Amino acid sequence: MSQAELKFYNTKSRKLEVFKSINRGQVGLYCCGPTVYNYQHIGNLRTYIFEDLLSRSLRYAGYKVNHVMNITDVGHLVSDADEGEDKMLLASKREAKSSHDIASYYTDIFFEHCSWLNITRPDVICKATDHIAEMISLIEKLQLQDIAYESGGNVYFDVNKFPDYSKLALLDLEQLRSGARIEVDSKKRNPYDFALWFTKSKFEDQELQWDSPWGRGYPGWHIECSAMAHKYLGESFDIHCGGIDHIPVHHTNEIAQSEAAHGKPMANFWLHGGFLVADKQKMSKSTGEFLTLDRLKDKGFDPISYRLLCLGGSYRKELAWSWEALESASARLNGLREKIMSLNESLGGKIPSDDSSLSAQARTIGDQFKTEVLNDIGVSRGLANFQQTLQNSTIEPGEKLYLALDFDKVLGLGVSDWLETKTETVPKKVKDLLAKREEARSAKDWAKSDTLRDELLAEGWTVKDTPEGPTIKKT
Ligand code: AMP
Ligand code: ZN
Repeated sequence: MSQAELKFYNTKSRKLEVFKSINRGQVGLYCCGPTVYNYQHIGNLRTYIFEDLLSRSLRYAGYKVNHVMNITDVGHLVSDADEGEDKMLLASKREAKSSHDIASYYTDIFFEHCSWLNITRPDVICKATDHIAEMISLIEKLQLQDIAYESGGNVYFDVNKFPDYSKLALLDLEQLRSGARIEVDSKKRNPYDFALWFTKSKFEDQELQWDSPWGRGYPGWHIECSAMAHKYLGESFDIHCGGIDHIPVHHTNEIAQSEAAHGKPMANFWLHGGFLVADKQKMSKSTGEFLTLDRLKDKGFDPISYRLLCLGGSYRKELAWSWEALESASARLNGLREKIMSLNESLGGKIPSDDSSLSAQARTIGDQFKTEVLNDIGVSRGLANFQQTLQNSTIEPGEKLYLALDFDKVLGLGVSDWLETKTETVPKKVKDLLAKREEARSAKDWAKSDTLRDELLAEGWTVKDTPEGPTIKKT
């Protein structure tokens, strides 16, 4: 199968480039994952929606994608540049739980929120704490090349030995950290050097520690992504992404470590998502002012409204957060859902199973959508096309639904779920059982709720719990 052409804005060249994969028909994609010391806010989730749209676009173009995401469960300090306290340790103290319990709690919630947003689960999810050996061996490689040095018990990367250090950020070193107050650290040769391994740090009570050639300790933050990306995707891979804040420090440091160790480009394409901003400021956990997806749901919003809101603009630009913008995305979502459901009802579920019976016009609309979304993840143009298609009176309802299902492979709004929702045909007895089960769930009476689920099953109905409440399907 051949692949359709994709274009991406590559941070490396600051240009829109035609995408070419290293291995024909396959893409290695690495996305920096969450630091699991707290909830991911809706700004963080905007970045994961962008990465989901990216991997869906690649698959839509005909590529097989190996999407790798790390989970940072050790080593990330409050500042991305070796300063402040360890985020996991802070959370342990705050919640009086072990680092392990903190990590597993916030990881589970993160993936639950991702599933509410129809974010496809990455193919590989790798935890930093499971890859300490890989990190140690990468640091040893750098030490052998004299690019890493030991000082005061810690191991640092020597920025002066890697002349291309600031090439991703396209800034000189002074600009690179401008704005960031750099603590004078007498252990470092150069203030921009960064820690690869800590032993003698300020955190004597660090709970997570491992033996290493440099003594018992724990890794710096950046080394985990280099070690895991290479383990799962090789020394050079296709695409690396994350939020725009990662350009000057985290991704700059990943490139330095990886390219110094292997002597080849770490990734050919670097894509970065813009911020979600609230009151003209980046939404951020450090300011204490952040919104979680739970909060949106508690206020009665379907989380997919937030996905739709994110789809409305370019992933590279800032997106201004407001409740009004969410209200309008929610109304737009309801409009789309109602239109699809009424088309489906009028058709009695008869949708073409492939494109062989599509009219020339429907095909042209489909081709246009493809060109739009494959041009630097142009989903906002694709979404406008989707809405126009539903209003277009010159193509058949069956074709519209065929196209809606096809477009949704990239947009991820859950169109196929809407086609399944036909609540009006649910018998009264089943509706009553469902209502009782909801009562039991609200009262946290899980045993009763399970019994009622079994009773529904005996009536021939399966319940699925979703953030919007239960949905029911004939078994
Ligand atoms: P963290 O868990 O802090 O490492 O962040 C997870 C991801 O969210 C990273 O890729 C960040 O670049 C990204 N991110 C952080 N704040 C925002 C924001 N306000 N808008 C969009 N993405 C963000
Ligand atoms: Zn990373």
